[in-house]
Parts: sequence; C-alpha cells; structure tokens
Amino acid sequence: MSDTDSTSQSDTLRTPIVAVLGHVDHGKTSLLDKIRGSAVSDGEAGAITQHIGATAVPLETVSQMAGSLVKPEDFDLPGLLFIDTPGHHSFSTLRSRGGALADIAILVVDVNDSFQPQTEEAIDILKRTGTPFIVAANKIDTTPGWNPQEGEPIQKSYEAQSKRARSKLDEKLYEIIGELSDMGFSSDFYWRVQNFQSNIGVVPVSALTGEGIPDLLGVLMGLSQRYMKDEMAIDVAGPGSGTVLEVKEERGFGATLDVVLYDGTIRAGDTVVVGGANDPIVTEVRALLQPRPNAEIRTEKRFDKVDSVRAAAGVKIAAPDLEDAMAGAPVRVVGDRDIDEVIREVEAELADIEVTTEEEG
Ligand code: GDP
Repeated sequence: MSDTDSTSQSDTLRTPIVAVLGHVDHGKTSLLDKIRGSAVSDGEAGAITQHIGATAVPLETVSQMAGSLVKPEDFDLPGLLFIDTPGHHSFSTLRSRGGALADIAILVVDVNDSFQPQTEEAIDILKRTGTPFIVAANKIDTTPGWNPQEGEPIQKSYEAQSKRARSKLDEKLYEIIGELSDMGFSSDFYWRVQNFQSNIGVVPVSALTGEGIPDLLGVLMGLSQRYMKDEMAIDVAGPGSGTVLEVKEERGFGATLDVVLYDGTIRAGDTVVVGGANDPIVTEVRALLQPRPNAEIRTEKRFDKVDSVRAAAGVKIAAPDLEDAMAGAPVRVVGDRDIDEVIREVEAELADIEVTTEEEG
C-alpha cells in the first residue's frame, strides 16, 4: 500500500484552487513553469505532484520556495493547487456549484504593457464570478538597469537596485494601480495592503528570475488561510464533485474527462453523473489516471492508474459513454445518495452554465 499523503491537515481542509489569468504573452505559462521548476529543484521533501490540468504544491514546498514569508507552522491549509486554464472563456465556464471553480486568481500583467484587452476581459470575469485575485506585475527584470536577484523576495530585490531602476519600476507599477482604479478596484503594493478584501495586492515579480515569487506564494497562502479557511473545510471523504476541463480521446480508453475535483473523493468503480450535450450521462468509473511522475506535462501520454483521488486535485477519468460530455460540465459521484437527485443537481447546474455561455456569445 502506498502512503501518498503524510499531511494530516488535509484530512479536514482542502487545497485552495488557484487560476492564472492575463493577456497573451504577459507570462502566465512562464510563471507557472517557474513555480513548478523551483518546486522540483527545491528537493524531495513534499515535491510537487503534477495532475491532469493542475499542479499541486504542498505547504512544505511552498514554504521552501517562499522562505521566511511562509512558515509552515502558521498555516493549516495543505498547500496550493494551480490549474491550467486554457483561456478566459473556459475560465468563465469553469464553475463549481454556481460559483467559480478557482478560489483565488493571479492576474498576470506585463509591467511594460500594462492593461491590454484580455486583461480587462479577465477582470470583468473575476468581477462577475466574485473571484478574489491578486496582481502579479510581471517582467520586472526588464526594468532598465535592473540588477537581478534570482529567486529572492521583492524587498531584497528592491534593496539591490539603483535608485533610478527602483523609481522606473515604481512608475510602471503605479500605472497598473491606476488602471485598476479605472476599473473600480483600489489596489496598492501588496506589503501596504491591510485588508485584502477591499484592496487588491500588487506583487512585483519576474517569471524569468523568480524574484517576487516567494511574495506571490506568501500572499496566496496568507489570503487563503485568512479568508477561505471555512470554505476549505469540506468532507474530503464524501462523494466527489468536480468540473470537466476537457473531453479527450485517449488511445486504449476512448473518450476521457480531464477533471478538477473540488470536493470529496472519487474512486475507481464509482457511479458518476456527468453533464452531457443532451442528457446527463450516468456511468461507472473504469479508471482514474494521473500523469506519470517526472514526465513533461504537456506532452504526457502515459498515465498511472490510481485507486482514488481526493479534493482538490486534477484527474483523468476513463469511463464508458463519455463522448457527449462537455467541458465546463459538472461531475458528481453518486455514493449512497439517490441517483435521481444527483441527476437533477447536474441538470440544474448545466442550465446555469448554458446561460452564462450564451451571455458571452
Ligand atoms: P503567456 O502567453 O501569458 O502564457 O506568456 P508566456 O509565459 O508564454 O510568456 C511570453 C513571453 O514573455 C515569453 O517569451 C517569455 O519568455 C517572456 N517572459 C515571461 N515572463 C517573463 C519575465 O518575467 N521576464 C522576461 N524578461 N520575460 C518574460
């Protein structure tokens, strides 16, 4: 028997789900890659696990990356789950019981480019779904005269800069703060923010040098712990609930679902109800698949079968009759509940998603 879970906290609290949004080329992929890369190079203790459509970074690893900014003893959330959202439209259809699938979001803004159409689009979606977010002001290393401080917290990085470089960067950051204000959000450098519920924290980062990443992780953990702990307290052993990220054909498995599980547990053999193009699909989980460790996540074609998965996590579900399943649709484990009730739940949620998608045209 494999013991994959050594953190007792995760028996009662689930991992917050983090989405990364922003204009194309502002650095979403680089930022996630940097977080994954540093987690891997920071050694064995609680190394990250790559999921289908998501990356789990346990508290221990967050803490190693963030140094003094995240002391493990101050937290009882098990870590962070970063989801790979392919685009804004998919983000807005990714829901969990009517709310947003992501508990919190990072809005990536290139300091040289400031707000662009997709930045504003992302903000509108975050506003509409009521998703709390922080701003990662990215590419600070491109500031003229910048003296890069690999992987350091932003304070230390600032101290190493010339007065001129610092004020150049500040100028760009104030531009972002101004844009946010135009969109109805008050914001400030994150270290000056007292109340993150009424103020957006702006975190200067470089996805290239890793500067400011400790701060970004620290703010994410701090916010989650402070404002979301109640929402994270779920019945992890209960019947699983998830959202379909993608429906994918896999050799040997047929149509499969890439799912983010946000509640409970799913097991091989479970009966599940999935939202379909016509009627809800009732099927039995044939296999739960995770990418093999250390494999390149984007080109990964080989999977390990696992017996069960608990929230929050990404997982691929292989089951018969999934051809008509839809991205954004709910997935529910029936468990010992009345199946008709679960079907009605899925139908109600599907109706909600269809309305949202139509609104977006
Ligand atoms: P995405 O479209 O938002 O996912 O953006 P990418 O992560 O693909 O980044 C777009 C380009 O910006 C790539 O060429 C990256 O190497 C570059 N880039 C991203 N982050 C940084 C950064 O912090 N500093 C610098 N100098 N370049 C960056």
